[in-house]
Amino acid sequence: MSFKNIRGQDKAINILKNYIAQSRLLGSYILTGPEGVGKQLVALNLAKTLNCQDNGAEPCDACASCQKIDKNQHPDVHVIACADSQIQIEYIRQLQSRSSLKPYEGRVKVFIINDAHRLTAEASNALLKILEEPPKNTLIILITDKLNLLFKTIISRCKILRFSPLIRTELQEIISRDYGVDKASAHFLAYFSEGRLGCALRLKDTDILREKNRVIDAFGQSLTKTYENLNIQGKPEIRQNLNILA
Ligand SMILES: [Zn+2]
Repeated sequence: MSFKNIRGQDKAINILKNYIAQSRLLGSYILTGPEGVGKQLVALNLAKTLNCQDNGAEPCDACASCQKIDKNQHPDVHVIACADSQIQIEYIRQLQSRSSLKPYEGRVKVFIINDAHRLTAEASNALLKILEEPPKNTLIILITDKLNLLFKTIISRCKILRFSPLIRTELQEIISRDYGVDKASAHFLAYFSEGRLGCALRLKDTDILREKNRVIDAFGQSLTKTYENLNIQGKPEIRQNLNILA
């Protein structure tokens, strides 16, 4: 997946592409915005672009480097995605020792820290030291949906790129057109996920649509009984109306 597949984040992506074009991308970045809007995809695409053997403005997605990054097997691209509630200093110590080495096979070492707001105070201070003297040929990307929980000193050392949810009608159109979701479900997913494409796509493959339809059916049946003498009798019509409200 390349930049063109990431929807609704053109502003942030264009800023980054300009940095790449001017060879000014290296350093430290914070990608911030709600969950499920494409921050991690953008970070991985940056890592791919900087190391792609095609050397273009977008990753080719086909070379050995792009494919290794997609499989999380590239020796110069490291994603810190800690399952614990906090990111301990050991992760940052590891980052520090890796960042002091030359790239193994790529052009640029990339470190992506997911949920950077979960860095402990100790880890934050250790990271700050690295950011104060950025290692050569290195890009450090912090990803967070809670920017206010990061140390102000860390924020001040990074370029900040803000990501936003899509307009819901736009998201509805995308998931309906590009992902083959029927119109009513696309409408529900777009609103339920509050405009976040990643969130909508995750929900698409869960039981939530079935559950929503079950609730609507049950509600529709009770409405049909209650209003059988009124002009709202057909379940499809009730479902359609409820979908509009969803
Ligand atoms: Zn490539």
